[in-house]
Amino acid sequence: MPLVSGKALLAHAHQNQYAIGAFNFANMENLQAVIEAAEELQSPVIIQITEKSIEYAGLDYLYALGRCAGENAKVPVALHLDHGKKWESVIRCLRYGWTSVMMDASHKPFEENIALTRKIVEFAREVNVSVESELGFIGGKEGDITPEGNIYTEVDEAVEFVRRTNTDALAIAVGTAHGIYKGEVNIDFNRIKEIKAQTDIPLVLHGSSGVPDEMIKRAVLSGINKVNFDTEIKLASLEALKAFLDQHPYEYDIRKIYKPARQAMKEKIKEKIKLLSSEGKNWITAYDSPDKHDVSLLTGGFN
Ligand SMILES: [Zn+2]
Repeated sequence: MPLVSGKALLAHAHQNQYAIGAFNFANMENLQAVIEAAEELQSPVIIQITEKSIEYAGLDYLYALGRCAGENAKVPVALHLDHGKKWESVIRCLRYGWTSVMMDASHKPFEENIALTRKIVEFAREVNVSVESELGFIGGKEGDITPEGNIYTEVDEAVEFVRRTNTDALAIAVGTAHGIYKGEVNIDFNRIKEIKAQTDIPLVLHGSSGVPDEMIKRAVLSGINKVNFDTEIKLASLEALKAFLDQHPYEYDIRKIYKPARQAMKEKIKEKIKLLSSEGKNWITAYDSPDKHDVSLLTGGFN
């Protein structure tokens, strides 16, 4: 089926108290690993890109890959822009056909964050695309910037932010960080519950690679509906690539090299999806294959 709006995915997760995994992709193998994992577990899934991946691959290629993945998948798939910090990246994604975008103005002052987010929400409404925004500050390495540390999301500010922006989903800073953890992780579960109770919208957890499984599960029970995973999936791919090349140092067929990496990513992604209770939540009950160009009409030409 065509790509699904992030709104539909998150609304279902919000109502049924589970979370959807959001996985970054930068190439075909990476994306296939995500879709295969989601299909095997019958789970809805979010595929996402960053401004860094736009620089790397270009919007044309990323969109073609994302759309192809959505149309062929037997589970609902939303295509999301993660951490859109530049106004033009968000607008370009909206114009291209992304079904979900993040306007991340969390590094700006409160009023500016509200103004930018509200403006994007207005545009996104016109095309039924969901908007994720961020309040507070999730530390660690994230794209180009390396923030110093976390600034936790305040409950009363979250309430005001949601009311004034009409954002569809909110990423909150509750103790996780981007990249690989150096110290112990401490998630403020009460803060998640408080923000959930007072805003009643889908909440998003960033920086979850390296967070113990039990903590992810508890975060979902506390009110998180989207969890981003990136670093651990990349590491799984790296380990598989290294192992393969150690054994086959002169292999030059890129397909043979990438096959075990794709498999390793898929296994890691399945582990993550299982933590979110989204397994079996495939709400496409009557799967209609998309209206494809009918090649059977072509009767000759081969001999
Ligand atoms: Zn993030």
